[in-house]
Amino acid sequence: MVGESREDIAVIVEGVVKIYESRGERVVALREVGLAVARGEVLAIMGPSGSGKTTLLNIIAGIDRPNAGRVVVDGFEVSGAGEEELRRFRLERVGYVFQQHNLIPTLTALENILLPMSMAGRPSRSRGLELLKKVGLEGKEGRYPEELSGGEQQRLAVAVALANDPPIIVADEPTGELDIATGERIVRILLEEAHGRGKTVVLTTHDPRVARMADRVAVLEDGRLRGIYSPQRIAGGAGLGEVEAEKAVEAALRKMMEEARLKLREAEERFRRGEIGIDELINIYTRSRALEEAVREELSRLGVTA
Ligand code: ADP
Ligand code: MG
Repeated sequence: MVGESREDIAVIVEGVVKIYESRGERVVALREVGLAVARGEVLAIMGPSGSGKTTLLNIIAGIDRPNAGRVVVDGFEVSGAGEEELRRFRLERVGYVFQQHNLIPTLTALENILLPMSMAGRPSRSRGLELLKKVGLEGKEGRYPEELSGGEQQRLAVAVALANDPPIIVADEPTGELDIATGERIVRILLEEAHGRGKTVVLTTHDPRVARMADRVAVLEDGRLRGIYSPQRIAGGAGLGEVEAEKAVEAALRKMMEEARLKLREAEERFRRGEIGIDELINIYTRSRALEEAVREELSRLGVTA
């Protein structure tokens, strides 16, 4: 929960509006969104695709500017800051785990971590190695990103985000394509940063199993904040006020199931065309079935049959 004093609040978002205009078309991505995140808290943002999750993260991280409203992060007025101030803010106070994990392919794992440190004028090889250990990539400092698995790449992206020890960590669907065990591992690293080290984490996810690990869950819909819920309520036994959260979760779960089925069908076709081998087909099949099973379980927890 948000504390009494303002020092306990790491992120303040007030009346934020974001409008994109491109080729004469206006898209209202955020409609007067307001929320606060306490220091040491993990907030998960859920919502359908296009609901404004990435836009909100970018605005908190000082990557994008709101058209209206106020954003204060770690005591710094992000809205209204000058370019140079904003650049330093992004480098030193925010760690961003991007959806397409932004690793530099020509740099090794360790060099990827050293890059933001060097940009801040504080490269430290020993700290880099420590971070690799923290994310479970000990001994892999010399590997290039393409020599790492998807889950390992994502964990490296987390280590890069932590390089300058920022008080705020934002992560855009950090568990996106990953299986749940790998996804949970990444969220656990972020949870440890928040609960163990007083960092503040704001992440987006379409996976209710990930959202349930957070302290609170904000639900966005069409650029509006529908509500902020406790994850226990999302886990089932919801009262009247939580109906919207439940609907959002159910929609997310159904989408996950659809995607798993689609992926499996695609894999079958690719196998028939000889594009993938039987090993890969079995691999995809196993993962899709495991996902379907997990989603079905979640849905039944919500009292819905799939
Ligand atoms: P989400 O992350 O929830 O999928 P986004 O924040 O990416 O949603 O997008 C919210 C809305 O803003 C969408 O309608 C999207 O098409 C639009 N949008 C996002 N970025 C841009 C942009 N750079 N230019 C124009 N429209 C954008
Ligand atoms: Mg997004």
